[in-house]
Amino acid sequence: MKEYFVDLHVHIGRSSDGHIIKRATSNDLTFENIAYEARYKKGINVIGVVDAISPYVIRDMERLLDEGEMEELDDGGFIYRGDLVMIAGAEIETREPKGGNAHSLMFFPHLETIKDFSKEMEKHMTNIYTNSLVSRLRLNELAHLVKDFGGIFILAHAFTPYKGIYGSCTDRLSNVFDKEMIESIQAVELGLSADTYMACQISELDGISFLSNSDAHSLPKMGREYNIMRLKGLSFRELLLGLKEERGRGIIANYGLDPRLGKYNRSFCLSCDRIIEGEMPITECDIDSSHRVLVGVMDRLEIIADRDIDCHMDRPKYHYQVPLEFLPGVGPKTIEKLINRFGTEMDILHNADEEEIAEVVGEKIAGFIVSARQGKLSLEHGGGGIYGRVKD
Ligand SMILES: [Zn+2]
Ligand SMILES: [Zn+2]
Repeated sequence: MKEYFVDLHVHIGRSSDGHIIKRATSNDLTFENIAYEARYKKGINVIGVVDAISPYVIRDMERLLDEGEMEELDDGGFIYRGDLVMIAGAEIETREPKGGNAHSLMFFPHLETIKDFSKEMEKHMTNIYTNSLVSRLRLNELAHLVKDFGGIFILAHAFTPYKGIYGSCTDRLSNVFDKEMIESIQAVELGLSADTYMACQISELDGISFLSNSDAHSLPKMGREYNIMRLKGLSFRELLLGLKEERGRGIIANYGLDPRLGKYNRSFCLSCDRIIEGEMPITECDIDSSHRVLVGVMDRLEIIADRDIDCHMDRPKYHYQVPLEFLPGVGPKTIEKLINRFGTEMDILHNADEEEIAEVVGEKIAGFIVSARQGKLSLEHGGGGIYGRVKD
């Protein structure tokens, strides 16, 4: 068994010939650039790419396979230049009849399965070529389909007010899923505004793995959250065993933002355009109760929790990490310098020596990186779609 870095939520922005795959994502987020960046700059071993059911992306994957840049594995997944495995699938939005939309992630083992699933989803979507996200299905229907195609099914950013199942649709899974479908949920993605300890307050999630993924809409954001998994090798099948914690495989640690840095951590008044301070849970604006409030993840969890926050059983440890781009005074040039010296962002965040960092970028930034490792940075909460902040 070996330990691997895994990030299962990276978006594709464009096809290699310039077609838009997903709006509001960076132009250079092509399938191939993601693989290259993950392999050489980030040091990630398994990447889950969503938006891969667009026929334009399928065409890109076929080209990489033809050119020998990438190979399909017998146990599923695609190996890129020897030691990165790409797992391909989709993020799909569903709508519940009683209201509320949710996103889920799904991954499939082989190119043929992805093609077949893509054909099936054409029936449930308006334009799968350039928007492979919004469907007309309910969550339970989508879960059934994914199961029929032998896929992995994950609830995405489960607690966020926009499009998270608990944030937008329901207090309990059983209101939305058939019992047998609950058993086919392989993992819940915590999202940037929650951590393991917050999510553990919902007892029905016992037995379902927690994932911390980046939900990257640009190359630098890949790996801002990731998981360390213990697997026997790299493939779709190994990943599935790991998510189900079977045969010695499993998630051994989650690395993610301090939830306070997430965009939806606290409740936010959309009329006053500010975070509403005060004791949780906050669901109303203290200036005018008719104002529209976007309920924060912390506040929402406080409302739907059925037990205390210190109940976290034997879940893998959640490590807080602050990506370089969050640190005051750190821009792309500084990041470039650090990567040239230390290899990958993972190495800089977790291993590089303080003095050596200071030699490259000065003592102040070195101090931030080391304080981040120790959880000693002083932070300001995010909310309403605005990230939290590291105080200078
Ligand atoms: Zn989403
Ligand atoms: Zn207000």
